[in-house]
Amino acid sequence: MSVCDVTLLCNYPKCRTKLSGFAWVTACSHAFCDQHGSGEFSRSPAICPACSSALSGKLDIVRTELSPSEEYKAMVLAGLRPDIVLDISARALAFWSYQVHQERMYQEYSFSRAAVRLKQLEKMLSQQNQSRELELTAMRGEIASQKKVMEEYKRQYGEVSERLMERNRQYQKLRGLYDSLRLRSMVVGERERPTQPGHHDYNTGLARQAIPQRSPQFLSLGLDGDSRFFSCLEADGAKTFFQFSSPAQD
Ligand SMILES: [Zn+2]
Ligand SMILES: [Zn+2]
Repeated sequence: MSVCDVTLLCNYPKCRTKLSGFAWVTACSHAFCDQHGSGEFSRSPAICPACSSALSGKLDIVRTELSPSEEYKAMVLAGLRPDIVLDISARALAFWSYQVHQERMYQEYSFSRAAVRLKQLEKMLSQQNQSRELELTAMRGEIASQKKVMEEYKRQYGEVSERLMERNRQYQKLRGLYDSLRLRSMVVGERERPTQPGHHDYNTGLARQAIPQRSPQFLSLGLDGDSRFFSCLEADGAKTFFQFSSPAQD
């Protein structure tokens, strides 16, 4: 970017509009856009909005055309001695270099502020990351311990359901034994009590209804049924019975 490409900006606080067309320049080396210059310098006494200098002199504030015509450029310094021409040019260049320097200072200040802000944000972000990392680690630990607890529950559930099935098997076996025993007691009762005409046994009425007569099939249970009953009771049945009645062994 060459010097000719640089455009001055309005020095009004927070305006910073690129100056074009007409601009208001002051003796304190500040420049303003047409809007802010005409607004600020219309009242008296005029005060520079950028540096608060009092601008009371006749030529302290000048509204100047930034791209003057060829005729103007040909005549504005005509007739002046070279030292005066150079003096005027030097003062105009000083104004320009002050503006450029001021803009550069402003840019550097903005840059340093942005760098500080960036560092603060980076620090905040890294702190947030660290705390997230810690939270994540804690959550992972929590998940792992919960998994362990769940595995333990699964194991216990498996054991309990296994025990329940075992109890169920024992219950079915005992139920079978009980049914055999009941049948046997009914058979024995029937044998020992001779049927008396006109006498009705109310206690065994239900049993007689369930097994109305001594049928050949029922009698056939006699010897075979006895041996099955006793073998069950003595061998496996007694053992499982005692296991069932004493859960403290588990
Ligand atoms: Zn402005
Ligand atoms: Zn000023």
